[in-house]
Amino acid sequence: MNTTQALIPAGGMPVDLQMFDPDYHGDYGKKSARAEEKALEQRLADLQERLYAESRQSLLIVLQAMDAGGKDSTIKKVFDSVNPQGVRVHSFKVPTAEELAHDFLWRIHQRVPPRGYIGIFNRSHYEDVLVVRVNDLAPRAVWQARYEHINDFERLLTDNGTRILKFFLHISKGEQKERFRERLDRPEKHWKFSRGDLSVREQWDAYMQAYEDVLTCCNTHHAPWHIVPANRKWYRDLVITRAIVAALEAMNPQFPSAESNLEKVVIPD
Ligand code: AMP
Ligand code: MG
Repeated sequence: MNTTQALIPAGGMPVDLQMFDPDYHGDYGKKSARAEEKALEQRLADLQERLYAESRQSLLIVLQAMDAGGKDSTIKKVFDSVNPQGVRVHSFKVPTAEELAHDFLWRIHQRVPPRGYIGIFNRSHYEDVLVVRVNDLAPRAVWQARYEHINDFERLLTDNGTRILKFFLHISKGEQKERFRERLDRPEKHWKFSRGDLSVREQWDAYMQAYEDVLTCCNTHHAPWHIVPANRKWYRDLVITRAIVAALEAMNPQFPSAESNLEKVVIPD
């Protein structure tokens, strides 16, 4: 089993998800992982404030996973120290009639974070080469062309000052079963369960193949994919927080320079 989370950018071997262990957690236990993540969250809050103040670049975080993979709880956990004013979350659902009347990136482009913001996509344009492909919602030739469309689109965003980080939350089929079970056992979690999730579960292997193609074809230098071992929530959160902090540190946002002679300002009564 491979223990790395970050992929080698494109041009490499096709991705085989069997080589990535969803249970991997390094030398960490729950306590040490949570402690380190908490410390990183402070750093994240700091960097986010700078990004907002600087207002020249943006960060786009893409989250993809199978049902119960932990997209919602990742957002809740990783961003709980960050000022909500500077963060925009969008969950992409089944496209509306209006959205379907446009190209598949139309609705996505509108949700890209403006300068100064962190944007989080809970599902994304990748659904158009995942659910669409697995369920034959578009002809093969249509979805096949999309890998290149996506790479070009992400390049456009990058060239315009948006840094892109993509995370595949990798859980095992057994872990999904346990999480579904938990949803069924707890009345306050029933709203999260739908019978339709079981039919998607039956297509597990087809989805894994579709994900492997995404991870192979759209893992670029400018917009890398991270395969996150996600069976352990605390390790998942640590890996993602760490990657986001590293990206923001590399972006190095700066507070804008202040007006001159502020020390001479007199505030009138
Ligand atoms: P949830 O994230 O559980 O609220 O579910 C959203 C649903 O919308 C999932 O079943 C997705 O597969 C579906 N969905 C998102 N984007 C698309 C798309 N482009 N085409 C078809 N279904 C989509
Ligand atoms: Mg769901």
